[in-house]
Amino acid sequence: MTAGALYISRTDFSRIEAAARINLPRESCGLLLGGSSDIGWRVTGVEESRNIAPDDRNDRFEVDPALLLKIQKAARAGGAHMIGVYHSHPNGGAEPSRTDVETSWQTGMIWVITAIDAKNTATRAYLREAEGFAPVPLQIMEME
Ligand SMILES: [Zn+2]
Repeated sequence: MTAGALYISRTDFSRIEAAARINLPRESCGLLLGGSSDIGWRVTGVEESRNIAPDDRNDRFEVDPALLLKIQKAARAGGAHMIGVYHSHPNGGAEPSRTDVETSWQTGMIWVITAIDAKNTATRAYLREAEGFAPVPLQIMEME
């Protein structure tokens, strides 16, 4: 499962980076929907979440459990499955923070992280493995 890339449309990728900017100075967050195959993972949709971390914490994100429940129910009914999460690091780096390492436990999940400041954005993908986060190449598809 460690081989492969994360395939995402330009539209969904732009939504992730736009959410990071709109939510400044707080972290943005949301879910990645899609599936996996022998060439990697394919994002078929993104679902933005409210960040329910405490208001005074601009260095934390917490996905709304109501959204998680909604996606799980939809997946059981034949909808798209959650393959991972995305969130932003305002004024930080596009790699998992210590908090990300400490608070994530579900292996096999894709993590997309956008580093954002006043001028720049950088987005990278990782796979949460038992030992930690492994980088995954991000393939942006210009055609849907
Ligand atoms: Zn983080």
